[in-house]
Amino acid sequence: MSSNQELIKRFKNLKDNTKLSNYSWFNLGGPAEYLFKPENKQQLIEFLKFNKKEKLKITILGAGSNTLIRDNGIKGVVIKLGTNFSNINLIEKSTLEVGAGTLDRKISNFAHDHGIGNLEFLSCIPGSIGGAVIMNSGCYGDDISKILVSLNVIDTNSCYEKEIKREEIEFYYRGNNLPKDLIITSVKLRGIISSKENIKNKQIEFIERKKKAQPSQVKTCGSTFKNLNDKTKAWQLIKASGCDKFKVGDAVISDKHCNFFVNNGKAKSSDIEQLIKNVRQTVSEKAGVNLELEIKIIGE
Ligand SMILES: Cc1cc2nc3c(=O)[nH]c(=O)nc-3n(C[C@H](O)[C@H](O)[C@H](O)COP(=O)(O)OP(=O)(O)OC[C@H]3O[C@@H](n4cnc5c(N)ncnc54)[C@H](O)[C@@H]3O)c2cc1C
Repeated sequence: MSSNQELIKRFKNLKDNTKLSNYSWFNLGGPAEYLFKPENKQQLIEFLKFNKKEKLKITILGAGSNTLIRDNGIKGVVIKLGTNFSNINLIEKSTLEVGAGTLDRKISNFAHDHGIGNLEFLSCIPGSIGGAVIMNSGCYGDDISKILVSLNVIDTNSCYEKEIKREEIEFYYRGNNLPKDLIITSVKLRGIISSKENIKNKQIEFIERKKKAQPSQVKTCGSTFKNLNDKTKAWQLIKASGCDKFKVGDAVISDKHCNFFVNNGKAKSSDIEQLIKNVRQTVSEKAGVNLELEIKIIGE
């Protein structure tokens, strides 16, 4: 039996040559050589041990709201922690333990229902909590580093599970110093006891602010580039350099927020990537600044 057949026979929830465009908010990207959606932690560990022999390159995908997948797809195995890793438990008065595939919005709503504040910002981040930890996602002054207690991770090399406490991690703007070979399986978050009314008002305020400033119902992965600092935003540099109307085929820049790049329907991933290059080069020439990507670009 070929190793391909052996893999598929052994792991029923592993598919080969699987379209990935539905797994990115850009709605773009070629196929995964293998796509694996583990049923649970034990199966994930079993797969990783098996892969020690296969040596397939591993790529982790959350909700794909920050990831551009290239047109020729991804070699090796894409591991997607989806609904099987989507659960929320209240473990103390103001502490939650959530599966890494849980959507941020659901966590914020659960926190509201249990009178736990400080998690309101999660209501307007359209990803999973695993992705939010990796990106140190946040908005309006809040971010994951401020509510994180600890992570449960599986090391893809040793295949062991371990807990990493917040104090062991250095977080910075849209990133952290976690090793790249970890799969986050669950996350503990702590808020503060607050009134449901206050929490609801804050969630509504955040969502309204976002609606005013950012496009919705479009195929985008949010901010393409990182801001330089609180005073110099990427969108300001893009606008000042005259790039806000740039386009490549159906890859365009949002009228509402020029750091949001959009697939207008028929773009290819290469069009989005070319648009990124064009903007970056022009901003470098005109403003003397090398914009750093916030979105992740993966694949061939
Ligand atoms: C309309 C829109 C608005 C947005 N607004 C904001 C905002 O206000 N603030 C903000 O910070 N971001 C924002 N984003 C970006 C995005 O939503 C966040 O970065 C989000 O946290 C990404 O989560 P994800 O699950 O979609 O991650 P993905 O895009 O799937 O992955 C992101 C990274 O995390 C890694 N990863 C994902 N899950 C795991 C895991 N379980 N273990 C290990 N690694 C993992 C991936 O390998 C990848 O490197 C916005 C995006 C959109 C589309």
